[in-house]
Amino acid sequence: MDAEKLEHYRRILTDQLRQRTETARENQSDALETAGTDDGVKDVADQSVKDVSQEIEYRLSERESQAIADIDQALLRIEEGTYGVCARCGKEIPERRLEAMPTARYDADCQSIIEQGTGEDEHATL
Ligand SMILES: [Zn+2]
Repeated sequence: MDAEKLEHYRRILTDQLRQRTETARENQSDALETAGTDDGVKDVADQSVKDVSQEIEYRLSERESQAIADIDQALLRIEEGTYGVCARCGKEIPERRLEAMPTARYDADCQSIIEQGTGEDEHATL
C-alpha cells in the first residue's frame, strides 16, 4: 500500500479514535453522575432499575474500549507497515473492505473462516 493511501486510512482511524474517546468520556461522566445522585435510595424497585442501567453503561463502555483498542491496533499496523495485509493468510485486504471497516485485520475469506471456527470446531488445525 502506498504512503498516500496509508495516510488516508490513518486520517480515518485518527478521526474515529477521537470520536470514540469523546463518547467514552461522556459515558464515563454520565455513569459517575448516576452513581453520585442516588444516596438515600431506599426503594427496592428503584434500586434494581439503577443496577440494570449501570450494567448497561458498563457493557457500553466495555464495547467502546474494545472499539478503541481495535483502532489503536490498526494505527499501530500502519506504523509497522503491516496495515492492509491479512493477519491470517498474508494477502492484501481489498480496499473496498478497508473503506467499510478500516480496522479490518483479515480479508473476508479468513474472517468468515475464523468466525465459523469459534466454538464450533475445537480440533481445528493450523
Ligand atoms: Zn486472509
